[in-house]
Amino acid sequence: MTSLNDELNCTSIEALVPRGLIGKTSDIVSAPVSEEGLCPIKVACKNGLISSIEIIKDKSKYPSQLLLPRFLETHAHLDKAFTWASAKNLNGTYQNALSVNLKLNQKRTFNSVKFNAERAIELALKNGYRAIRSHVDSFGIGSEETWEALLDLQHKWEDFIELQLVALVPIEYWTTGEGKLFAARIAQKNGLMGGVLVPPLNKPLTRKYLLNMFILANDFGCPIDIHIDESQIDPGAGLTQLIKVLKNITMNVPITCSHSSSMGLLSERKLLHLANELAKYNINVIALPLTNAWLLGRKYATTPISRPIAPIHQLQKSGVTVAIGGDNVRDAWLPIGNFDPISLMSFSMPLAQLAPWNRLGLAPFTTAAAKLMQIKWNGTIEKGAPANLLLLEGTSWSEVLSRNASRKILIDGQWLKSNKFYENNPKGNL
Ligand SMILES: [Zn+2]
Repeated sequence: MTSLNDELNCTSIEALVPRGLIGKTSDIVSAPVSEEGLCPIKVACKNGLISSIEIIKDKSKYPSQLLLPRFLETHAHLDKAFTWASAKNLNGTYQNALSVNLKLNQKRTFNSVKFNAERAIELALKNGYRAIRSHVDSFGIGSEETWEALLDLQHKWEDFIELQLVALVPIEYWTTGEGKLFAARIAQKNGLMGGVLVPPLNKPLTRKYLLNMFILANDFGCPIDIHIDESQIDPGAGLTQLIKVLKNITMNVPITCSHSSSMGLLSERKLLHLANELAKYNINVIALPLTNAWLLGRKYATTPISRPIAPIHQLQKSGVTVAIGGDNVRDAWLPIGNFDPISLMSFSMPLAQLAPWNRLGLAPFTTAAAKLMQIKWNGTIEKGAPANLLLLEGTSWSEVLSRNASRKILIDGQWLKSNKFYENNPKGNL
């Protein structure tokens, strides 16, 4: 049915593709569309690009595979991935995660970070990611070694997966002389400036630190991605201060607010006002439903009924670009995870009531994620687009998201196949 075989080069694939991800330039007006929004099409590839798209009209030949663009992990922590064994947080609270994390950071080395992060990158690649934005604990003992290890990996894997690195520090650090020098170094490495803003907040000081960070980011041309309002108290406190600061400065770099969880606890009126303000200042939001569901709103021997989570639907309605990220994987912040975009979609579906057959249910994992990460190809499948695709066994979303679907990964027109792929690649020293 398809040209899928042991050859490395892909010439064509017959598969079901989400209607919303097929580019407007493709002539598919007459294509049949399933109730789950999937179209049977034949995608041809040449020289690493999609060379044509054809509709499959014969019902008896409908494919039993689903084709998607390779995914983007918008928010990860590669430096601490897979550290659960030595950094357990058995009571699952945010506070305990923080103290376990601090202890772990005292022991980190170039080799320990590199080993875990590389395992994460390999897994992410095989599971279907083409880019990862990772926050990096950049304060205190071991920060230098951690950056060195991740920059090494960024270079080593650059042909297969784009790695974006965000310097995660207390926001006041950016006001220090050392912080300014660090910002200059981050900019040189095309990194992003990060930070954490969690209540209770000293509001005037918070605004001062934020303004300073924004000025620095503008000066160095460094995009910003901060952890904000990852909490169940003081709903929207950090975002409210951030908006106040933005009234006094014009930004020339994008700002992303990761988590924004407590915003979901605001009253409908206040939430709508804040969402409109975020849209007005072009603030992006990354929702992290898994870690929020695990860490937040905890009360001993009580099942939480009210869940702090970014109000994805309301933000989208106001015009904010919203993506979903996986956040932590098997560390003190979340004991599970596998750097698997399909598993993330499965978990997010009931947690955030996101259905992939709706355009706005799929965008946070695909096109919106690419826009937010400023990645050139937004994942739309059309003639001329890179043949960077993920092929899953299954005839529906329900089937694909219900099991560990077997998959094949196409990178610039070549199937990712064990060591064969690397051997045939110019940088075959992996
Ligand atoms: Zn995070």
